[in-house]
Amino acid sequence: MIQTTAVVVGAGHAGLAMSRRLTERSIDHVVIERGEVANSWRTQRWPSLRLLTPNWQTRLPGYDYCGDDPDGFMPAADVVATLTAYARLVGAPVRTDTAVRTLRAGPRGFEIEANDDLIRARAVVLATGACSLPAIPGLAGTVPPTITTLTPFSYRDPGQLPAGGVLVVGASATGVQLAGEIHRSGRPVTLAVGEHVRLPRSYRGRDIFWWLEATGLLVERYDEIDDLTRARHLPSPQLTGTPEAITTDLNSLTALGIRIVGRLGRITDGVAQFSGALANTCALADLKMNRFLTRADQWATASGLDDDLPPPHRPAPTRVDPRTPLELDLISGEITTVLWATGFRPDHSWLDIPVRDRTGRIRHDGGVVTGAPGLYLLGMPVLRTRASTYIHGAGADSGALAGHLHSFLGSRRRQ
Ligand SMILES: Cc1cc2nc3c(=O)[nH]c(=O)nc-3n(C[C@H](O)[C@H](O)[C@H](O)COP(=O)(O)OP(=O)(O)OC[C@H]3O[C@@H](n4cnc5c(N)ncnc54)[C@H](O)[C@@H]3O)c2cc1C
Repeated sequence: MIQTTAVVVGAGHAGLAMSRRLTERSIDHVVIERGEVANSWRTQRWPSLRLLTPNWQTRLPGYDYCGDDPDGFMPAADVVATLTAYARLVGAPVRTDTAVRTLRAGPRGFEIEANDDLIRARAVVLATGACSLPAIPGLAGTVPPTITTLTPFSYRDPGQLPAGGVLVVGASATGVQLAGEIHRSGRPVTLAVGEHVRLPRSYRGRDIFWWLEATGLLVERYDEIDDLTRARHLPSPQLTGTPEAITTDLNSLTALGIRIVGRLGRITDGVAQFSGALANTCALADLKMNRFLTRADQWATASGLDDDLPPPHRPAPTRVDPRTPLELDLISGEITTVLWATGFRPDHSWLDIPVRDRTGRIRHDGGVVTGAPGLYLLGMPVLRTRASTYIHGAGADSGALAGHLHSFLGSRRRQ
């Protein structure tokens, strides 16, 4: 049996950032990791993936990007290298190859079963990630059995796909990147587009993440956001990180020759049926993008930057072909692969503490889990601010939660 003050579950960037914060406060802890440091970037991401956030934004407590390409976008392999070096830099006490099988309430805190060990701790931080499993819609079960189906977890590169057409379902960051990559391999690609967040890669000479940060949007707090549930479930922005920093939007994909269709609604007798609301969906995404660009322009004017920046402009509206098909026969042989780029979800199936709501999500207030003093959640979208969704957001979040955890331990000592 191992006794420690705090346990952090997961050695991705969030768990490592928390480890650094706990060390800063001299809180004895271990980080438990089922694989190696940065396991999800090693095992769950496809090789060609690059971060969509620029390198300069890859910063963690005690670490700032110091490479020679601050405006570039890190390939997944470099994320692994960066996080591995970060774990060493902060001296994170990581126990690798140790999977948590159960976390339950225990005497004076929590009990964790991990491999053959029993670990007791007064506080636990759940940092196992928001993207532990692909989120696949129920209609996946109605895809004809002749079709090969893949998720971003099983996708490696286009070479693994059978010859023939590919239906990519979902047009957020993952879907638009993989649609482009598969199209370049010579396979005809159809992209089913539901609600999405359109953003240009850069605006007025600056990367869009520069604007998102400068305007203060990313630091909007969770308790100041009108519709927090919606904010936490927004799809990832339609952005890719490429060496050329190109904008990957529906217009650019259409220009490549990718066929855009509406949201996949049903598959009946092998026929996929797409929403007829594609034009409206795109118009809404355009409207929201332009609303943000207006906010950016107003901020630039108020900050006296207009003379230093190129003038405001607006990307062309998304073009939707009025003849867009509403159906696609999946039995005809035209489509041989369906790729579900329909998002990701966390996996806390090993958590044996009643802290979930009706929908199965952990109830928490900015990462402080409700009804389980000493239990914390880190690395979730819009956990404490909009930046929580991204790597750099773990800095402030881990600082705030480590402060709470420290006070919690102090209050327990006084009892
Ligand atoms: C395709 C994709 C692209 C992304 N691109 C970007 C981007 O460009 N920029 C950005 O800022 N963010 C990006 N993100 C979002 C986010 O930064 C990543 O999801 C990131 O990996 C989350 O870090 P994390 O530390 O919260 O979780 P993870 O990196 O997933 O780490 C969790 C760790 O917990 C371990 N674990 C899980 N269960 C257990 C268990 N039971 N016992 C022990 N260990 C366990 C896992 O092995 C893993 O190592 C992307 C996400 C995805 C899915």
